[in-house]
Amino acid sequence: MNLQHYIGGEHVPSVSGATFTALEPATNEEYLTVSAGQAEDIEAAVAAARKAFTEGPWPKMPAQQRAGILRKIADAIEKRDDEIAALECRDTGLPITQARGQAHRAAQNFRFFADVITTLGEDVYRVASAQLNYVIRKPIGVAGLITPWNTPFMLETWKLAPALAAGCPVILKPAEWSPLSASLLPAIMEEAGVPAGVFNIVHGIGEEAGAALVAHPDVPIISFTGETTTGQIIMRNAADNLKTLSMELGGKSPLIVFDDADLDRALDAAVFGVFSLNGERCTASSRVLVQDTVYEEFVRRFAERASRVKVGAPNDPATELGALVHPEHYARVMEYVQIGIDEGARLVAGGSRPDDLPVGNFLSATVFADVSPKMRIFQEEIFGPVVCVTPFSTEEEALELANDTRYGLAAYLWTNNLRRTHRLAQQIESGMLWVNSQNVRDLRTPFGGVKASGLGREGGKHSIDVYTEAHIVHVATEDLPIPRFGAS
Ligand code: NAD
Repeated sequence: MNLQHYIGGEHVPSVSGATFTALEPATNEEYLTVSAGQAEDIEAAVAAARKAFTEGPWPKMPAQQRAGILRKIADAIEKRDDEIAALECRDTGLPITQARGQAHRAAQNFRFFADVITTLGEDVYRVASAQLNYVIRKPIGVAGLITPWNTPFMLETWKLAPALAAGCPVILKPAEWSPLSASLLPAIMEEAGVPAGVFNIVHGIGEEAGAALVAHPDVPIISFTGETTTGQIIMRNAADNLKTLSMELGGKSPLIVFDDADLDRALDAAVFGVFSLNGERCTASSRVLVQDTVYEEFVRRFAERASRVKVGAPNDPATELGALVHPEHYARVMEYVQIGIDEGARLVAGGSRPDDLPVGNFLSATVFADVSPKMRIFQEEIFGPVVCVTPFSTEEEALELANDTRYGLAAYLWTNNLRRTHRLAQQIESGMLWVNSQNVRDLRTPFGGVKASGLGREGGKHSIDVYTEAHIVHVATEDLPIPRFGAS
C-alpha cells in the first residue's frame, strides 16, 4: 500500500519522491510506503490552503452552511466505522474493540463543533449610551495540526473539527508511526463537500515535514499534541513568527485511593485507566497512590487483575491489551521495566513478553509496587502498560506525592469524604480532575494540562478561541469629548 499527500484536492507524491515505510505493530513487518514530505511539499500545501483562505468560500461561509458540511463529515465517518477501526487496529496495535470507540468519538467531534458554531454568539459591550463595542470572531488563518501516533484518527478529528468549524483551512501532519487511518479523510471530506484546498495532509518525519510547517510564516497557528520535549522544540521554532500555539503534551497522572473509597470501583478504574488503549494514553493513571491502611490488599488485587488482562492480537475482539505501536517505542518501554527493577521497585505483575506472543510489540500488563518518588519510573512518562503503586499515610502526603512530578495533565481521586474532595480539588496540580470516576469527558469541557503537560485549553468554546482572532470594534453612538491638542 502506498500513501501520498493530499494537497489542494489532489493526491500527490513528495516533490523529491522521498518515502518512508510504516510497520505493523503485531508483526513488525513493513506494510506501507508513505510519501515523506519536506519543506517544498509544505510550501505547496500552504499555498493551496492560503488560497482557500483568501479566495475560497470556506472562511466566509455562513455558520449554518459550514455546520451542514461538518455534519456530513460525521455521517461519512460513521459510515466507515468498521473500516476506520480496522485500519487503526492494524496501524497502531490498538485492540479492535477500543479502536471502534475511537471512530465513534471522531464523528461526535464534528457534530459537536457544528452545534458550537451555530449556537455561539459574539460579545457586545454597551458603554453607557456613548459607545457600542462588539467582537467579531475571525478565523485565524491556515492552521497547522500536528498529531501523535496514539489514537490517531480521534486526535486528528479533535483538532480538525474545531479548526474547520472556525473557518480555517488546515494542513494535517499525521504521526509517522500511524499514518494509515488519516488516508480515509480525503474521501470523507470530498463526500461531505469540503472545497478543495480547505483540507490538506502532508505526511512525513517530524523534524522535516513537521518542522517546515512550524517554520512557515503563512501558518499563524500550530495546534500540537505530542511529547513535552517536542513541544518545547516547536515553541522555540515558532518564536520567530510569533505563532499562536496550542500545546497538549505528556502526562504522569496520579490516581489517589483513600481507604474510605469504594475500593472495588477504584480498582476497576485504576486497571482500566492505565491498561486501556495499550497504556498509550496521555491521561493514563500511571501513578496509583494508595492509603497505607488498604495498600497491601489493593496491591495484591491490582496485581491479580493485571495478570488476567488479556494480551493478544489487536484484531481479536477478546483482546484487552494489544501491541505497542513500534519496536523503538517497545524497546523504550522495556527499558523502563528494567529501570524499575534496577531501582528496586517491587514487580508484582507482568514485566515481560507473554510466552504465546513471540513476535510483535507485546508486553503483559505490568505493575510495580513500593515505588518511591525519587525513582525514574515514578517521574518519567512511560506511555505503555506499566503502572507504579506508591503508599501514603496522610492527606498531606497524598497531595505532595500527587504533585511531585513535572507533569500536570489529569488526576483521579477516590474518596467518599466530601470536604477532603474539595480541599484536594483546589490543590492538585492538573488541568483535569475526575472524582470517583474513570476518565469520561463531555466535549464542552476544557481539555489541557498545567506544568510540563501543556499550554492553553481546547474543548468546546475554548477550541474556537484557539482557531479564531477576537476583533473588537468600538463604535461611538454619541459625541465623546476629544482632547483638542494644538487647538489653543
Ligand atoms: P512526538 O512528540 O514524538 O510526535 C508528535 C508529532 O510531532 C508527530 O507527528 C511528529 O512527527 C511531530 N514532530 C516531531 N518532531 C517535530 C518537530 N521538530 N517539529 C514539528 N513536529 C514534530 O509524540 P508521539 O510519540 O507521537 O506521541 C506520544 C506523546 O504524545 C506522549 O508524550 C503523550 O503523552 C502525548 N499526548 C498528549 C496528549 C494530550 O492531549 N495532552 C494526547 C495524546 C498524546
